Amino acid sequence: MGAKRRIGVLALQGAVSEHLDMVKRGGCAGLAVKNRADLGAVDALILPGGESTTLGRLIREQELEDDIRAFVKTRPLLGTCAGLILCARELVGDARPRPLGLMDISVERNGFGRQRESFEADLEVEGAGSIRAVFIRAPFIQSVGVGARVLASLDDKIVMAEQGNVLVTAFHPELADDMRIFNYFVAKSSGALAESHFLL
Ligand code: GLN
Repeated sequence: MGAKRRIGVLALQGAVSEHLDMVKRGGCAGLAVKNRADLGAVDALILPGGESTTLGRLIREQELEDDIRAFVKTRPLLGTCAGLILCARELVGDARPRPLGLMDISVERNGFGRQRESFEADLEVEGAGSIRAVFIRAPFIQSVGVGARVLASLDDKIVMAEQGNVLVTAFHPELADDMRIFNYFVAKSSGALAESHFLL
């Protein structure tokens, strides 16, 4: 066994402690990432849920945009909910935080509508089978480009996808007991997976 994987959680706003708890449950070392130096110290990064406009603004204020873009060239990143929104190439709909363009997906913010603010659903996740997922004012992925792979959909709305090192969920794996998505992410970060095989 090697040293514990060091998983960073971007700690500018949002569901930071929930993700750090999940990292601990998964047997990894969690680090709250607030600046460039922190980013340099982790093997993988989680962009948590929260408020994507605020999160995007704070990322720019900390001058982390280019660093995060460079990060995903060599290390895995998991974006959940608002984190997924920030990974997009483009956003559709009204309110538009500027996304980071980490993967070739087009995203509709608050895509499930206000009447479905928060709900749970069983998803069929490619290669993993059924996973119970918690959605909170969730976005969905309207379309993916050639480089991105759809891993789960709900009512024809794409809610999980990956492209290279970047894995995104519209829902909140940190709020469920099921560790399969986190374990998959960690396996990516240890280089234990051949690219693009969902081996849960
Ligand atoms: N709807 C929120 C946004 O647009 C995301 C909600 C969440 O992260 N739980 O930023």
